[in-house]
Amino acid sequence: MKLLLLGGTMEARHLAARLVALDYDVTVSLAGLTRTPQEYKAPTRTGGFGGIEGLSNWLTGNGIGAVIDATHPFADQMPWHAFQATQALDVPRLRLCRPPWPLSADWHAHETLASAVAALPSGGRILATTGQDQLQPYMDRTDLAVWLRTIEDPGPLPGHISLVQARPPFTIEEERDLLANHGITHLTTKNSGGDRSKLDAAEAVSVAIHVIARPAPPPGPSAESLEEAVAWLAQTVASNP
Ligand code: NAP
Repeated sequence: MKLLLLGGTMEARHLAARLVALDYDVTVSLAGLTRTPQEYKAPTRTGGFGGIEGLSNWLTGNGIGAVIDATHPFADQMPWHAFQATQALDVPRLRLCRPPWPLSADWHAHETLASAVAALPSGGRILATTGQDQLQPYMDRTDLAVWLRTIEDPGPLPGHISLVQARPPFTIEEERDLLANHGITHLTTKNSGGDRSKLDAAEAVSVAIHVIARPAPPPGPSAESLEEAVAWLAQTVASNP
């Protein structure tokens, strides 16, 4: 059975290696947003499919028998496109998503980035780790000093936003140094789950943590670990020989 693995995450990279080791015929798909993507141990294709119809055509044209969607928990279009395309074609699909961080009583929880940024007090010194896709809320808050951490260079930024260009993972010591060097008072983050270094560092030095909730996933089977994904695949292959 030919598989499509929708990637762009550490989980996808690890799962690709595992599936290759298990002799699955897997192609990884990347959106192509990162100029120097991490290497995958499986064949990759890059770029959007062209919406639900483009994805459906690609699945049919490449004889794909199952899809594992291991895009980021905050990817909010690709999972729905995968859901709709596979449902229409009756192709089994699994959403693989690492578990979110359990909310601590001290954290400030928000539904959107806009509401998180709106809650930051004037004069705050912010470490923004919410990505580069939605910068407008930070742009509008000229009363804050913002250190924006991204993998890619997002282009010109106004004077109150400084770029910290870096690729994870970061150790807790690196995170503590970053917070201390810039006198950070508040951290904004999506509830991506996984490595807790920035959260542990922020808690250790009493930096206020503002966490944005995940978008709702599409209905259907889901897994939180590679082991669960591999088990789902084995069962899917067994019942669709
Ligand atoms: P998105 O909003 O769900 O997707 C936007 C569009 O990008 C999709 O409609 C699709 O274009 C294309 N796309 C997304 N993932 C793709 C994939 N794996 N292969 C081929 N095309 C893909 O996603 P996003 O938030 O922009 O994220 C883009 C990529 O970055 C994803 O692979 C995701 O895993 C990774 N990422 C996202 C975040 C985040 O916070 N959102 C963080 C880390 C990594 P078409 O409609 O043309 O098919």
